[in-house]
Amino acid sequence: MTMFVVAFLFFYIWYIAGITIGYHRLLSHRALRSNKLWEYFWVAGGYLAYQGSPIWWTAIHRAHHKHVDTELDPHSPRFGLLHSYVGWVPAYIMGYPEHVNPQTQCKDLYKDAVYRFLEQGGKPIRAAILNALVVVSFDVLLTCVLGWQVGLASVLATLVAFQIPNALNTFCHIQHLGYRGFATADDSVNVWWFAIVALGEGWHNNHHAFPGSSRSGLRPYEFDFSWWLIKLGLATGMVTYANEPHGVTKRLNRNRPQAVINRFKRRQQTKQYNVL
Ligand SMILES: [Zn+2]
Ligand SMILES: [Zn+2]
Repeated sequence: MTMFVVAFLFFYIWYIAGITIGYHRLLSHRALRSNKLWEYFWVAGGYLAYQGSPIWWTAIHRAHHKHVDTELDPHSPRFGLLHSYVGWVPAYIMGYPEHVNPQTQCKDLYKDAVYRFLEQGGKPIRAAILNALVVVSFDVLLTCVLGWQVGLASVLATLVAFQIPNALNTFCHIQHLGYRGFATADDSVNVWWFAIVALGEGWHNNHHAFPGSSRSGLRPYEFDFSWWLIKLGLATGMVTYANEPHGVTKRLNRNRPQAVINRFKRRQQTKQYNVL
């Protein structure tokens, strides 16, 4: 049982941070620079969470930011909760719609031979089948070498991690589920409980305000586990640069919602609190 719990925790962090750090902050936004070993480690985590070809994921995510909460946004909940959770996938797995063109929008990733191979010639359905074969083979190998508990932990972690981007696209674009610190031209919100589950990715209003930032939690109480992993990368020299938003303090002070300010003041009365 202990073996199962330890393995599950390991895969949970690897697969989810594989999406948040690898697919999202590193590849989609180029918010940090690292050596290839560190990059491949996290991207492999996202790949084992069955996120599909990194180029496909990036092309769709860049389209999300470019057309956020409009008809061209691949997964806005304005067009239905089921649509934003998973309903959008079939249209994007059969091919690319006109406004999403990875050849021009993901030129940077096409330079990498591994990502080009995983993209399978721009055929998302082929890329998804390859991804499924790799995930199943990996879990079979784990089971044969390390035992069924480790294999099962990996399968369950994949099932959980797979839900994270789908749930984020839904919950973090419904205004009444969270708070908005920045007046972005979309419905994005910060959802604290989702940020815990998604290792820091729930501070989504912050992210839409500063998409090029390698940290999503900006206030002292916005815990961002992925950012701590990036800081670990910086400390060990694996990460050479991590972008952070400049002049963010002023905007935070100006735009902080009243409820959050009150809670913040109460905390300040009892102990010294570091303000960003
Ligand atoms: Zn969004
Ligand atoms: Zn993003």
